[in-house]
Amino acid sequence: KVLCATGIIAVLLAFFWKDTFNPESLSGARVLLTGASAGIGEQMAYHYARFGAEILLTARREAVLQKVMEKCLTLGAKKVFYVPADMSSPSEPEKVVQFAVQKLGGLDYLVLNHIGNSPFQMWNGDVEYTRWLMQVNFFSYVALTTAALPTLEKNKGSLVVVSSLTGKIPTPFTTSYSATKFALDGFFSSLRHELIMQKRNISVTLCILGLIDTDTALEKTRGKVYLTASPAAEAALAIIQAGATKVQEVFYPWWLQYTCSLWVLFPCHRNQVLQSYYNYSSP
Ligand code: NDP
Repeated sequence: KVLCATGIIAVLLAFFWKDTFNPESLSGARVLLTGASAGIGEQMAYHYARFGAEILLTARREAVLQKVMEKCLTLGAKKVFYVPADMSSPSEPEKVVQFAVQKLGGLDYLVLNHIGNSPFQMWNGDVEYTRWLMQVNFFSYVALTTAALPTLEKNKGSLVVVSSLTGKIPTPFTTSYSATKFALDGFFSSLRHELIMQKRNISVTLCILGLIDTDTALEKTRGKVYLTASPAAEAALAIIQAGATKVQEVFYPWWLQYTCSLWVLFPCHRNQVLQSYYNYSSP
């Protein structure tokens, strides 16, 4: 009974005792945002701009970054720069961070959001592809973080890592992608503890997203998944708020947190649950 009551109190405290988000805290904040040319990253760029942040945008397509930059300026961003970079190249992360620090004079937020192209299909044995995706989705996150830690520490900054439900629950058609997202959880959750142990003032926020209505996600999952996609602009805001309030993990939509808890609590029902959401007859 005592254990049960303690559990209920802990859940209630976690629910109500949250730092409230103060939008003004982002006015003038210096943000390096990856994967900023499309989808959730593009929406994050617009939110940061509305909050008056100073932003360095990066992705591969220069012409698209230029358009996102122009829109950010009309929305109220204090400063916006962009740098095209392909994160499959191991030398790019350090260059991007150096460019950001040079342009913005330091960093308060490093928001890691980009992903390499991930077909939504059954494993076809392509090991080289998995290696490549690990480079883009995982190793470049580690390299960007390594390069940015000194400036983040100086500014009591925040690391924001965008992950997925498939980084907590392995789902079909996402073998390599899921592996990269599990790797992020392992690395960044461990790093968070080490930073705390060393009393280094850098927060690490892991963002666990469900299906979001970006063009790429909708196109890939059509006919294969029975799930409703949530709006990208709302997902983007949830990520930004979580980073600004320095929470350790955020789930969007919020109820995914309970899905993950049930997944751990009831392992014998896992196959049944997954098969009700996925079209297993799909090639
Ligand atoms: P999008 O595919 O819409 O955007 C991906 C971004 O990454 C683009 O800006 C793209 O720009 C950039 N990018 C792609 N390849 C590279 C590369 N090699 N080097 C550098 N940048 C690259 O993705 P979403 O917005 O859907 O996803 C954003 C984040 O949210 C990801 O971390 C994803 O895992 C996560 N997420 C998304 C879900 C969803 O349903 N949408 C669900 C769960 C998690 P460019 O082509 O110009 O390089």
